[in-house]
Amino acid sequence: MRRLKQLLSGIDRQSYQAYKTLKGVYRYPDFTLSIDHVQGDPFAEPSRISVRMPMQQAGYPKQLWATPVRRVALEDFVARALRTAIRERVRGGRGTGKSGLVEICAGGQQVLRRNAVILNANAVEARLTMGLPAAGRRVLSQEAAEMFFRELPAVVAHGMAYRQLSPQAAELHVKSVEDQVYLRQWLDSAGLVAFLADGSILPRRSGIDDRPLTEGALPLRAPESLARTVKLPNAGSVRGMGVPRGVTLVVGGGFHGKSTLLHALERGVYDHVPGDGREQVATSPSAMKVRAEDGRAVSRVDISPFIDRLPLGRDTQRFTTDNASGSTSQAAAIMEAMECGTQLLLVDEDTSATNFMIRDHRMQSLVAKEKEPITPFLHRIRELFERHGVSTVLVMGGSGDYFEAADTVVMLDTYQPVDVTREARRLAGNDLQRLPLGTVAGLKPITTRRPRRSDLNAGYGRREVKIGARGQSALLYGKHTIELSKVEQLVDVGQTRAVGWLIHYYAKHGAQQPISLVAGLRSALSEVEDRGLDILLPWTAGNLAMPRLHELAAAVNRMRGLQWD
Ligand code: ADP
Ligand code: MG
Repeated sequence: MRRLKQLLSGIDRQSYQAYKTLKGVYRYPDFTLSIDHVQGDPFAEPSRISVRMPMQQAGYPKQLWATPVRRVALEDFVARALRTAIRERVRGGRGTGKSGLVEICAGGQQVLRRNAVILNANAVEARLTMGLPAAGRRVLSQEAAEMFFRELPAVVAHGMAYRQLSPQAAELHVKSVEDQVYLRQWLDSAGLVAFLADGSILPRRSGIDDRPLTEGALPLRAPESLARTVKLPNAGSVRGMGVPRGVTLVVGGGFHGKSTLLHALERGVYDHVPGDGREQVATSPSAMKVRAEDGRAVSRVDISPFIDRLPLGRDTQRFTTDNASGSTSQAAAIMEAMECGTQLLLVDEDTSATNFMIRDHRMQSLVAKEKEPITPFLHRIRELFERHGVSTVLVMGGSGDYFEAADTVVMLDTYQPVDVTREARRLAGNDLQRLPLGTVAGLKPITTRRPRRSDLNAGYGRREVKIGARGQSALLYGKHTIELSKVEQLVDVGQTRAVGWLIHYYAKHGAQQPISLVAGLRSALSEVEDRGLDILLPWTAGNLAMPRLHELAAAVNRMRGLQWD
């Protein structure tokens, strides 16, 4: 600490580059500070530091981190506590550019494995970024000293040491996440693909604010016929709505909460912070939202089960385009989801291509079958389940055609689910037999395609690796900008970055093996699961969060200009 003080006072008013001399490790009374990277100028990415406190000093009771699930939850809790402490105790704005800013990547409503805080039996370590203060491009030692010797120790004391945190909140956080993991695993044994507990609050504050709606939110209550009870390890018995395997239709008038429910199911693959309203909503971990996304690139995907005989004889068994249409993009999304081994597709009429979803009798009479390249989803939805075990939850308020294909029909009436399966069956009559299950060529998931390894080079100009994120939905990877705004289950900018680093890892380690893209990505992910996100980075940083296989593959699938084998 003394040494840092001396270094700082020696560089006052010098050019900003002088900060580079600070790189190194310094001992504070309660923790060790490591200055891992010093930014090149006040406008660049802020400097990276890490703070390490021995476990004895930090004082977390063992039962809070005794299992891997609990440890991730506690790490998440500490990252959030540090963020709060930063907001309360850091002044910010100490000069040019990012001068004075202190940040930690603690995430939004989801609890994800991250590398902002890493905890083990020896120590707890937090990675922060810090904008070293400058006037113009000159070092401001006095301001930096305030940050290093007043703010940082206060942040660490209040955000990292157990005795300063709320033991009740920490315990609640850990137990809640543990229940969510249990609930998600329980689904399969209960024959369900999703569960939404009574009392869950599904609506969000706004389209850009993922926190729960506070005013006028109607808590969910399961209809008796779909009600299930689960016994959670911490919360005990919980009643809620079970969504059974098979085809589930969500119907109801406009603005009655259908899309909101589907959104909650999309997010149900993740754990949520206590108070989110969705912390007892769980979805099958492989659930995949599939939607239309015109304009995206598609590479060598067999979409022939849905789209065949395109005009001018275009190949749809190895469909490749830089500019997919609504229906071809949605077909590709389904095939890609199956390639990743999904067990549950989530589909919303709001984000689907109409001609992909339905073709009514009149249209069938007008346009001869030979002239229509599309086999609507309706004609594959049962096959998906019966032959491939892939369930679907489909929001469809605009057409009754799907009644005949549904196992369960839920109507949302003023945000409340009502089981209308019987009425829907009655209306559909015996139409079920009309569905041409097996009358068209069977649907086979893709298994072997993969991109050429050399095309996945992350280099850019003289930089060997350039990987970054512009917000959550744009991944910068070498020369590529990968557009991810329609990959709706990507929920955190840390996941976006990690996806970039995982692609790079895959390109270095897995892409030369003669295995499929998905197998390669899966093995990269399991390495990271075993050894931690840090193995992806050539330096110390705390800005990654764990993505799923599905979003990782989705990013590669959207890259343009790759050669595929
Ligand atoms: P739909 O897809 O049926 O047209 P949405 O899901 O888009 O309807 O919901 C319409 C509006 O109702 C949204 O503004 C949403 O936030 C709100 N909403 C949804 N569920 C609830 C609820 N349980 N309580 C209060 N408002 C809700
Ligand atoms: Mg809707």
